[in-house]
Amino acid sequence: MSSQFGPDYVRAIAPYQGGRPIADVAREFGLDENRIVKLASNENPLGMPESARQAMLAAAADAGRYPDGNGFALKATLTEKYNVPADWITLGNGSNDILELAAHAFVQPGQSVIFAQYSFAIYPLATQAVGGRAMAIAAKDFGHDLDAMADAIADDTRLIFVANPNNPTGTFINGAQIQKFLQRVPPDVVIVLDEAYMEFLAPELQYDSIAWVSQYPNLLVSRSMSKVYGLAGLRIGYGIAQPGITDLLNRIRQPFNVNSLAQAAAIAALNDTEFVARSAALNAAGYRQLITAFEGLKLPYIPSCGNFVMVKVGDDNDAGARVNLALLKQGVIVRPVGNYGLPQWLRVSIGLPQENEIFIAALKTALAK
Ligand SMILES: *Cc1c(COP(=O)(O)O)cnc(C)c1O
Repeated sequence: MSSQFGPDYVRAIAPYQGGRPIADVAREFGLDENRIVKLASNENPLGMPESARQAMLAAAADAGRYPDGNGFALKATLTEKYNVPADWITLGNGSNDILELAAHAFVQPGQSVIFAQYSFAIYPLATQAVGGRAMAIAAKDFGHDLDAMADAIADDTRLIFVANPNNPTGTFINGAQIQKFLQRVPPDVVIVLDEAYMEFLAPELQYDSIAWVSQYPNLLVSRSMSKVYGLAGLRIGYGIAQPGITDLLNRIRQPFNVNSLAQAAAIAALNDTEFVARSAALNAAGYRQLITAFEGLKLPYIPSCGNFVMVKVGDDNDAGARVNLALLKQGVIVRPVGNYGLPQWLRVSIGLPQENEIFIAALKTALAK
């Protein structure tokens, strides 16, 4: 549907398709909400940490007041955790906010933005919302081809998005490759290193991107509280960059973009190292459970470093939609990725062991049809 309002580039936006809400699927398929398994949005299957829930409830007493628009207490927690000054931190209404702020701050209509094919759906949306020219660079083995991305940088390129680990494919680029890439990017091009899943990385894969921020004034590291920290519904994330970037993001954000309940919960969650470790361990076990099942079913999958896995459910271009529908009818919500150009695949978030089991059984039924 189009209207006569607004610029062409806004009218051309295809709205973001998220994972379907449980209540929605229950209504459509006549199912009991309590028996639905949702493995569609890379949420933490443990829910929010109890520490964060308590902090949020305590903060609710003051919800009649505006939040601290500068997030003093939360920034103090982050300052201590990462050993960076408070003026290097931007708080966001989800890390999605940080990605959009970057597009608004650095890209004018007609200028180009680079990201990888099969990368996060928000990158093209944020680009289009500001009239930017999207350059989606062909993926290599479903992941980023950083050499090709660096080669593609044009005179008008202002922004590059790199998701590591990547969503939806779960692919990972090691720290040495990223450093090599950072060296190749001209200083007037901003790189957003989107690390929504970094807490799930095995210790031997982890790298210190915050240290790179000191070295590169054009690097913005983005982190989310929605995935391992279990706060997806509260909407909170943050960006870390030198003041040359951070100052601009803070000028254009809404003054109260992060609500007070989210700020309180985030402080507690960031300090809850036990919860993070337990979540990462649960995820690692669930990953093995899922890929063991895929191997048994002879289904190709993409090795993943996130809290989700891509599995190929057929060779025809209706396979993803067909198997997805058969799963929905059984009360299992996963994510079809046809909109990413991967119609033969489904992305499955890693759940609790029993949720994974229900999904595997439903998948077997769906494939038998
Ligand atoms: C989930 C996700 C985000 C954003 O999550 P928020 O809930 O907005 O913090 C950002 N980048 C990637 C790659 C993601 O998968």
